[in-house]
Amino acid sequence: MSAILFYSTNLQAAHLTFREALLKGIAPDRGLYMPEEIPRLTADEIASFTDMTYHQVAFEICHRFLRDQIDKDTLYELVKDAYNYEVPLEQVYDKKYIMRLDQGPTASFKDFAARMMGRLMQHYLIQQNRKLLILTATSGDTGSAIANAFYGLDNIEVLVLFPEKEVTARQRKQMTTLGRNVQIVAVDGKFDDCQALVKEAFADPDMDDLHLSSANSINIGRLIPQSVYYAYSFAHLRSGHHDDSIVFSIPSGNFGDMMGGLLAKSMGIPIDRFVIAVNENDEFTKYLSSGIYEKIAPSRNCISSAMNVGHPSNLSRVTAYYGGTMDEQGNIIKKPDFERMQKDMISYSITDTETEEMIKEAWQAHDLLLEPHGSVGWAGLMRYLKENPELDGKNKLFVSLETAHPAKFPEKIIELLEFDPALPASLEGLEEKTESYDFLDHDYSMFKQYLNKRYR
Ligand SMILES: *Cc1c(COP(=O)(O)O)cnc(C)c1O
Repeated sequence: MSAILFYSTNLQAAHLTFREALLKGIAPDRGLYMPEEIPRLTADEIASFTDMTYHQVAFEICHRFLRDQIDKDTLYELVKDAYNYEVPLEQVYDKKYIMRLDQGPTASFKDFAARMMGRLMQHYLIQQNRKLLILTATSGDTGSAIANAFYGLDNIEVLVLFPEKEVTARQRKQMTTLGRNVQIVAVDGKFDDCQALVKEAFADPDMDDLHLSSANSINIGRLIPQSVYYAYSFAHLRSGHHDDSIVFSIPSGNFGDMMGGLLAKSMGIPIDRFVIAVNENDEFTKYLSSGIYEKIAPSRNCISSAMNVGHPSNLSRVTAYYGGTMDEQGNIIKKPDFERMQKDMISYSITDTETEEMIKEAWQAHDLLLEPHGSVGWAGLMRYLKENPELDGKNKLFVSLETAHPAKFPEKIIELLEFDPALPASLEGLEEKTESYDFLDHDYSMFKQYLNKRYR
């Protein structure tokens, strides 16, 4: 079978193989890469996932997307190494479940994508005898997921900038205690200042020979791995009946997670509907119901902070998936098929008050421990079931995604539930480790000097 090619959502760039699209990140026309073709799984293949471990399902799915782009044995070793942790499916009541995507090294669902992307990049870089410098600005979680996922990999250096006063001590320690190929810099400024330094370095021709790459959530290498847990959870929870089907509720910000879900649906996983749960940044909720898109700038500050996105970059992919075109600014060049979009998904905006109420309610009613992001997802699912009681059928499953570990938000949990949640093994011992990081002003000429000194 010939390779699946990837096109840019802005439609003005060459179609690339997976390897090329992965290493490029963003297309030259500023669009995001999308597969020209989505592989189809047969009912028997889906049924065979029921007895597979997580990494085996990951192999089956990634192999169908990558085909001859990587040999099978190498891919198998790679997914096995990336997914060396559990994916708990926790029953809450009846056929309502929480899928905990919080058991990776940084206790965030971003580990799923970042760990695969890092390993795939390393594989291709070694093959081509090339090096890459990953340059990322973070407001907390992405930086630690990237730093941990790329830690110790060959041919890759990682530099993460974070706003000195805007990340928690725990978030900082998840990055600054690594060392080796991971360098961390605290910037005297805000997240936007860090982002501006990164963007300026990418645009600076003097930096070309450093081979910068961003590894952020727009890379196609992150979407494919994010389709796996949808297939895995369906296969492991289904009753085996031929009309089994499933509803997923996804706490969303930049919509990378949801794009993974759409890929899974296209592959043939019988997903009835996606509940797209957002916080008070409700631009998507309005877009879906009205067809009119208005970004929110600046984005609203909610307690589910990783979802404070006023203009989700993956919206251009969602629009492309439904046959439309949206440019990187959010202008709709061609309308997508809204009817089909509304059939596949419904979106609810959950306020901070509702998010906090749901953390309390879930704990009191079901011993279900949620943090703010997962609470937005669960609240979305509860609203969906309340508005559509007739959907609650015999072979229907309902799964809400928990995207971070509650112990990452100890202050919130103590405030609402009056106890300090136990740390997952991956975050234990962080307090005792030695930190190492540099400081910089938010000044590009200083940053450039720093890059020159360190990487030349
Ligand atoms: C990034 C993130 C999200 C949002 O995921 P998107 O793919 O950007 O929609 C939700 N929860 C947590 C904890 C995150 O870190």
